[in-house]
Amino acid sequence: MSIPFLDFTPMHRAIQTEMQKAFQEVYDSNWFIQGGKLEEFESQYARFNQTKYCVGTSNGLDALHLALKALNIGKGDEVLVPSNTYIATVLAVSYVGATPVFIEPDLNTYNINPSAIEAAISSRTRAIIPVHLYGQACEMTKINELAQKHELFIVEDNAQAQGASYNNRLTGSWGQVNGTSFYPGKNLGALGDAGAITTNDSDIARSVRILGNYGSSKKYHNEVQGFNKRLDEIQAAFLSVKLRHLPTWIEQRQQIARWYLEALNGVGDLILPFTAQGSTHTFHLFVIRSRHRNELQEHLSKHQIGTLIHYPIPPHLQKAYVELGHSKGDFTIAEELAETSLSLPIWPGLTRDCVAIISDTISDFFSKKL
Ligand SMILES: *Cc1c(COP(=O)(O)O)cnc(C)c1O
Repeated sequence: MSIPFLDFTPMHRAIQTEMQKAFQEVYDSNWFIQGGKLEEFESQYARFNQTKYCVGTSNGLDALHLALKALNIGKGDEVLVPSNTYIATVLAVSYVGATPVFIEPDLNTYNINPSAIEAAISSRTRAIIPVHLYGQACEMTKINELAQKHELFIVEDNAQAQGASYNNRLTGSWGQVNGTSFYPGKNLGALGDAGAITTNDSDIARSVRILGNYGSSKKYHNEVQGFNKRLDEIQAAFLSVKLRHLPTWIEQRQQIARWYLEALNGVGDLILPFTAQGSTHTFHLFVIRSRHRNELQEHLSKHQIGTLIHYPIPPHLQKAYVELGHSKGDFTIAEELAETSLSLPIWPGLTRDCVAIISDTISDFFSKKL
């Protein structure tokens, strides 16, 4: 039996009728950009995220880009980003012409380490982008205090953690403006590219909407040089359907995580996900660590179990960022994570039997090895 890293089938089969109805409604309406489906989804997602406003965008990277742009961050500014994140977080900073400054993660949570932030703040620092990595909320209270003390904006990257919270406040509701992604594989995924910003600030919401719509709020009147970074009606309609199921899907992910945690406890040299005090974890990814990661991944692959590495090369060592002048050894925690992390299958519909097979295959690997 083969177990893929990600399989949409169980999730999509369960909502097929609803999704087809959503498609039919958009198809019959003959209205495909900036209409009622988008408005409906934006208000539903704002309510879900407990923010006043949500503005749909073309994808998560564009959401972060427009968020930074709306805050007037640009050339000469520095933005703090975690050294262990998906490259999109960093690209958004580059898009506005600002300089990304990396902060090491905490080795237990893999999220940005609040104690490492202050040392990286300079007179040019304007904002910090906490990334709620793998689905776990960052320690937002401490980050918020530091941001206030140094008058920095917070722009959360909530691409992986819709529905997570820190001290009972949802991720995506802490920053002045926050970006999220509805890339198909995210916890809330469209059937194509999609994203959104969330904010409580009406001016920022308006700015993002105008910037993403050619700089225009009135057709053919352009206030600023904008972009085309809108969310389509069809994706908005699909997202409204899926949003209704998101809380159940998150619970399923958390259940799968509990099965793994139980079965893999004490196996080999594995380091299992750790959820920090005050944080909730929505388990977008279930990331384990081992010094034998490459061999383990090969062993699982031989047994037809799909895994991925999030992420094999940290941004500071990417060719795209040689301009920053970093080299190996500059961010050793991010580098350590890149060498030891392995993401196991976790998706709504993954059965307890599958989790047992995966866990047994991992135990097998270590019993032969040690
Ligand atoms: C997916 C992701 C993004 C980018 O989202 P897209 O919709 O793919 O552009 C940004 N940041 C993080 C942490 C992500 O996981």
